Amino acid sequence: MSATADRDLEAELASAAAGHAGIPIDAICSGCGRTHVKRARPEEMDQHPQVDPTSLEATDLTSFKHVCHPCGSATWWNPVAVLTDLLESERGE
Ligand SMILES: [Zn+2]
Repeated sequence: MSATADRDLEAELASAAAGHAGIPIDAICSGCGRTHVKRARPEEMDQHPQVDPTSLEATDLTSFKHVCHPCGSATWWNPVAVLTDLLESERGE
């Protein structure tokens, strides 16, 4: 069983809390420890802006700043996984 089995990643990505621009990233809030899908631009994670997102590994990415609603402010998020499946389904539309 994967840790994401009980989560709807597509719904999380579609929610306003995920943001509007960038690559779908599963990430952990450094403030409250909550996991949520966020969008982050490659350059926010110390990657080249034109990088092919499908080539990225979560371990290569740096933490990025994103708003966390339970924390009530922008916090640092640690990337857990690049959600390549969601990225590819978006591109297919
Ligand atoms: Zn938080």
